[in-house]
Amino acid sequence: MTRPIRATVDLTALRHNLGVARSYAPHSRIMAVIKANGYGHGMLQVAKALASADGFAILNLAEAIALRESGFSKDILLLEGFFSADEIPLLVQHELSTVIHAPWQIDAVLQARSSTPIQAWLKINSGMNRLGFQPDEFPAALQKLQQAGAKVTLMTHFACADESNGITEQLALFNALVHDLQLPRSLSNSAALLSFPDALGDWARPGIMLYGASPMNHKSASEFGLKPVMTLSSEIIATRDIHAGAKVGYGGSFCAPGTMRIGTVACGYADGYPRHAPSGTPVLVEGQHSRIIGRVSMDMLTVDLTRIPEARIGSPVTLWGEGLPVDVVAAAAGTISYELLCAIAARVPMSEVA
Ligand SMILES: *Cc1c(COP(=O)(O)O)cnc(C)c1O
Repeated sequence: MTRPIRATVDLTALRHNLGVARSYAPHSRIMAVIKANGYGHGMLQVAKALASADGFAILNLAEAIALRESGFSKDILLLEGFFSADEIPLLVQHELSTVIHAPWQIDAVLQARSSTPIQAWLKINSGMNRLGFQPDEFPAALQKLQQAGAKVTLMTHFACADESNGITEQLALFNALVHDLQLPRSLSNSAALLSFPDALGDWARPGIMLYGASPMNHKSASEFGLKPVMTLSSEIIATRDIHAGAKVGYGGSFCAPGTMRIGTVACGYADGYPRHAPSGTPVLVEGQHSRIIGRVSMDMLTVDLTRIPEARIGSPVTLWGEGLPVDVVAAAAGTISYELLCAIAARVPMSEVA
């Protein structure tokens, strides 16, 4: 027997969620965001399942080349662009698109004198203040890139697309800058795609929704018709009865209010389960709702079995996924699904179901 923890990736759900993205953005092309190892789901495996997407967005040149070499022939976008000028020949060779967010990158493109046009996604800082050209720098940046022969797509990124008026100012600023330009545009992450049909543009860039989690606080993934992709599961490896006043786990942070039956689960923070998940964070045991108690340790956590008398060693435990949305666990742990999904540890065996 091996340690029972595993992550199961449901490729049918992944494809279903791409269909949901298409239904919200029927006139846009979909640049599926598969950074952070496909949000923890395995970059190449996700790309293979989503081969009908119009493009993939990632961060590293090496990953982009691996994706190209795996046979994907459509657009591949580097979301932070290149990090040094010597990457430009490889971009050209592998026909990769690159974000251009800073003046030094334009200078590098000019100096590279590539005979093949660079596919440039010119990023405008419309208010997030992370990457991109300021509105007053944008016209000159565009002109220089076009002089260098680049094929340009205009891009911006929203800071608050999960709020009801979250994109108004950024969208107005972007539109004012680009309204008379006949160039493709890309604006929306998952939250904007699901909430703001006015901002769809030519290319949408959904990430989290493809993995079946919600980008919004106030609306669940299932309300958007999304299906969970990753299920993190394990088993009970020990059970015991404890008396009132008994403490559980490191620091004794949980103290039994009465007689209880508890179980130890083979899953800890070294597997990617959040250490800061407090007592009360939901979990499924034998398909029934329970809660974790005490501190999460490196390799184990403890669950309450008092109301699940049939639970025993070997009982299945779902940490998140099918039957228990990752968003619910994330909220209980004071974080977001993105962080839990990408933190899945390499030591957790991952298997796909088609
Ligand atoms: C990560 C990212 C996305 C995808 O965001 P989600 O919230 O996961 O949909 C889109 N665009 C950019 C620039 C990103 O960095």
